[in-house]
Amino acid sequence: MNGPDGDDTGVNGRVIDAGNDSGSDSGSGVERSVRGEPEPFRYEVEVDPGEVRHFRHEVGETYLGDPVEVPVTVINGEHDGPTVLLTAAIHGDELNGVKVLQEVAAGYDPAEIHGTLVCIHVCNVPGYLAQQRYLPIYDQDLNRSFPGKPRSNTAERMANAIYETFVRQCDLALDFHTSTRGRTTMYHVRADMTNPAVARLAWAFGSNVVLSGEADGGSLRSVATNAGIPTITIEMGRAHRFQPELIERGLDGVESVLAEHDVLPGKPVIYPGWRRVVDAARDKTWLRADTGGLVEMEYDAPLVREGDSICTITDHFKTRERTVRAPFTGVVVGALQNPVAAPGHPLCHLVSVDEGTAAEIQREVDSGEFSERPWA
Ligand SMILES: [Zn+2]
Repeated sequence: MNGPDGDDTGVNGRVIDAGNDSGSDSGSGVERSVRGEPEPFRYEVEVDPGEVRHFRHEVGETYLGDPVEVPVTVINGEHDGPTVLLTAAIHGDELNGVKVLQEVAAGYDPAEIHGTLVCIHVCNVPGYLAQQRYLPIYDQDLNRSFPGKPRSNTAERMANAIYETFVRQCDLALDFHTSTRGRTTMYHVRADMTNPAVARLAWAFGSNVVLSGEADGGSLRSVATNAGIPTITIEMGRAHRFQPELIERGLDGVESVLAEHDVLPGKPVIYPGWRRVVDAARDKTWLRADTGGLVEMEYDAPLVREGDSICTITDHFKTRERTVRAPFTGVVVGALQNPVAAPGHPLCHLVSVDEGTAAEIQREVDSGEFSERPWA
């Protein structure tokens, strides 16, 4: 990685670009001291310890010549500690995380924070304005464009401005997503559990399901993690919605991560009751349609038993019906929402669970934890 050399200041040693040239990769950096006195968070100006700043930071330009600006909140605690990044809407139509960040940014007092919170409320502003996943017109995926370059396509420029100005300064990161349009996903974390710092972060977040694996190249999670900034993504529900129960769990997860990393010393780290780490490469199966038609989901809770009917696919004349059954007992972590399918379309994403875990999930189902039908 570029940036100032000599970053040998130990666990919490960080390097800050002191220049005003955000988006550039030339950095006449100053070294940040190891843990001790709290210090300002610098971007173009400084956010002093004890200060909360809401601002917009330019990451591009529209063809009308207007600036494209990401809304950011920095809460610099009165006490020293790690800098925690929270990002939402890297995919422009994934909104649950936007609400989580709004609440985080409004909810913490710098007097109680040991460290700094950096909330980038909406990363993909053009996608967000259009309520679509990718950057409009060229359909570029901001989450395949990190760390980006200052002289490249729109997505890479934008990613680079975000990365150089904010991500680089942080010690760990939480990136909030939802399922893509037309599908939904069970609340879960994605993390490379072979990386101990990432695993610590994922445990602390306290989701029931952790999908373990490396992230795709160019994603914020993979690039930041590889640069020594442990990062997890949180997948929560559906695009285009606020889902209050999931948002509540997300806020609890953030608080638990802050507790684990001593940003909120003395607060409890949550344990979610049951937990399943799934090897993304091995343990999950996408069930796919092998016939075209109209899909009707039949399961009521994310837990399905071997042989249970997950959905039916019928032709338009209702003369032919195919029942898709669970090939093993498992948790449905993602499912089709759009009810039409052609052969090969993914229907649901099933993760196997052992009997003990299934019994724990069954207890949650019985207690009404999953009141809303997961695919509705
Ligand atoms: Zn996403």
